[in-house]
Amino acid sequence: MSFDVTAVRADFPILSREVNGKPLVYLDSGASAQKPQVVIDAINTAYASEYANVHRGLHYLSNLATEKYEGVRGTIAKFLGATNENTIVLNSGTTEGINTVAYGWAMENMQAGDEIILSVMEHHANIVPWHFLRERMGVKLVWVDVDANGDLDPQKVLDAVTPRTKLIAVTQLSNVLGTVVDVKTICHAAREQGIATLIDGSQGAVHMPVDVEDLGCDFYPITGHKLYGPSGSGAIYIRAERMAEMRPFLGGGDMIREVHKDNVIYNDAPMKFEAGTPGIVQTIGLGVALEYLMDLGMENVAAHERVIRDYARSKLDGLNWLNVQGTSANKAAIFSFTLDGAAHAHDISTVLDKKGVAVRAGQHCTGPLMDHLGLAATCRASFAMYNTTDDVDALVDALELCHKLFA
Ligand code: PLP
Repeated sequence: MSFDVTAVRADFPILSREVNGKPLVYLDSGASAQKPQVVIDAINTAYASEYANVHRGLHYLSNLATEKYEGVRGTIAKFLGATNENTIVLNSGTTEGINTVAYGWAMENMQAGDEIILSVMEHHANIVPWHFLRERMGVKLVWVDVDANGDLDPQKVLDAVTPRTKLIAVTQLSNVLGTVVDVKTICHAAREQGIATLIDGSQGAVHMPVDVEDLGCDFYPITGHKLYGPSGSGAIYIRAERMAEMRPFLGGGDMIREVHKDNVIYNDAPMKFEAGTPGIVQTIGLGVALEYLMDLGMENVAAHERVIRDYARSKLDGLNWLNVQGTSANKAAIFSFTLDGAAHAHDISTVLDKKGVAVRAGQHCTGPLMDHLGLAATCRASFAMYNTTDDVDALVDALELCHKLFA
């Protein structure tokens, strides 16, 4: 099936609006993606005519909501290539997923002095929970740098392994540099040594087909709002053997079977890791977003985005006053940059916004990477499946204006 970007764009109503009197050129999908009409409709229907709390009711609407909500577990499993849907824990997104691993697995299975390997380009969501364990338990964080192109050499990650290494936690795709990491090599080598692997799929799952079983990872969190679904939705794949090593992290309703004055009996996994009333409608919306992506075909999405990446790369390379961070041959269409001269990323972003071009400016929740690059901030243009080469041209025009203003 070929990918028709015009038809895809027509599915996203917000893309036809104007901003500051100019057609919107949305290049901030790395922060959060826009939503197709099918997702908006599903949210509306869920609230307008199918809403009730899930799991505990016996009435019609509760059963309907439960059926729709629980059906998403299978959709996510299919999207991620997990054969057993009980390896999918539903949650509010990657941040909750990684905290679940930190408190539910690492606190139970690590001792003071044990080591966690991280890459320098991790998002704060894949750093701060590990700092909590450093502060509370005395685990050690071991950092692996990226090279001058922004590539993470899997061998360098594996060379950092010591007898105390218990976990390798790295991103599949950098939200700043766009670098795609060969996580399969890391996961397979780690598995042979009994080391757990957490692959942050927040960006990776958006831009390429994913098969968690082929990757061989233990933990793979995703976040719904970047996958064209609602904010507050998400999930984490947890390999069954690792799930068996975990204790629940959040306590409350739904995750228990019996509660007594003296003891509690937990529900079976994965519900054991899903406490309280969940994001019912958000999760239903995520299911619809993933069905939409699977209908398009992630291979087709990836192929379209490669065209955008190559076009953007050639255009941006032509601007000799623009410094693009991350020049890996294997990168997604995510371009972080600074301009020669003193212009701050925030000023650049403000000028681009006046031209209708939405980019993000700042640290992108990657303090260690910014330190590594020696930068206080960058602007980031992150392209998605609904972007076109016209959007690249609009970015370049707006950047030329910035150059004139700030040079
Ligand atoms: N990891 C990466 C690579 C990200 O890009 C993000 C979001 O920007 C996150 C983790 C955190 O996702 P969330 O804030 O949805 O939990």
